[in-house]
Amino acid sequence: MEMGIVQRRSRVVSNRAIARDHFQLSLYAPEISKKTRPGQFVHIRCTPEQDATFPLLRRPFSIYDADPKRGTFDLIYKVVGTGTESLRDVVAGQELDVLGPLGTQFTVPSGLKRAILVGGGVGIPPLYFWGKDLKRRKFIVDAFLGVQTKDYLICADAFQKAKITTHISTDDGSVGFRGFVTEAIEQQFRRHPPTPGTALYICGPTPMMKAATKLAERWSLPAQVSLEERMGCAMGVCMGCIVEIAGPHATAHKKYQRVCTEGPVFPAEAVVWR
Ligand SMILES: Cc1cc2nc3c(=O)[nH]c(=O)nc-3n(C[C@H](O)[C@H](O)[C@H](O)COP(=O)(O)OP(=O)(O)OC[C@H]3O[C@@H](n4cnc5c(N)ncnc54)[C@H](O)[C@@H]3O)c2cc1C
Repeated sequence: MEMGIVQRRSRVVSNRAIARDHFQLSLYAPEISKKTRPGQFVHIRCTPEQDATFPLLRRPFSIYDADPKRGTFDLIYKVVGTGTESLRDVVAGQELDVLGPLGTQFTVPSGLKRAILVGGGVGIPPLYFWGKDLKRRKFIVDAFLGVQTKDYLICADAFQKAKITTHISTDDGSVGFRGFVTEAIEQQFRRHPPTPGTALYICGPTPMMKAATKLAERWSLPAQVSLEERMGCAMGVCMGCIVEIAGPHATAHKKYQRVCTEGPVFPAEAVVWR
């Protein structure tokens, strides 16, 4: 196993509802909390029973926040199926088997002045971790957060508390801008064209990431995407999470890359969207 990655049974500090179908899980895992960087993820066995065989596979979740002093890290998940239903029932004091920190991290391109975070649904949490880091390093940070409807809105308070200028969009207009998050950004860019030194960081559903990548291309902005593909082993062995890579980023050996090891963060223009 790669240096720096640990597998630990980690104590659940809390597991609480934060929005409809969305929960925030806090785990005590000092090594992971200390080592993890924004963009990385953990792979978790979603049941506390050590000998349970269902659900068999771990599930991947992005790191939302880490507090190395307390030895904890947090993630936010939406209940969508077997693994996340099982996770919802976990209570403080129980232990979960956690593998991490895994994958690549967001990076700062040379000349960066302003970062625009573009998050959709459960793609929002890793951008908060990154936004906080960028703020600490004195970059200008704006966030555009998109959800289907206001009941699904997550993390907006945390972004605002971190003094990140936050714009909310909902598909149904129940809060903030009515429409897709990319439309809200486009509207702002038409009023205030982005200045050199602006970069986009994108995480969310595939159609949103594809649209945000096109937007970055149209405005000639560098962009990074964090992909949340379905995943099997998360250790680079099963090839269950490969994506096609385009242009100068692809070589004969690198036409397909693994989200779990070469990702989840990729240059946006490198990804062949389907
Ligand atoms: C690097 C990475 C980071 C992630 N971070 C987060 C996070 O921070 N918070 C979060 O809530 N989720 C995150 N996900 C997605 C999360 O891993 C899946 O939602 C979870 O594995 C679903 O498990 P389940 O057993 O509950 O659902 P399953 O029973 O496996 O599936 C239920 C339904 O969800 C669909 N589904 C499952 N996984 C995905 C996926 N990856 N993309 C699209 N549809 C899927 C299935 O097709 C099915 O319709 C991340 C995924 C990756 C790869």
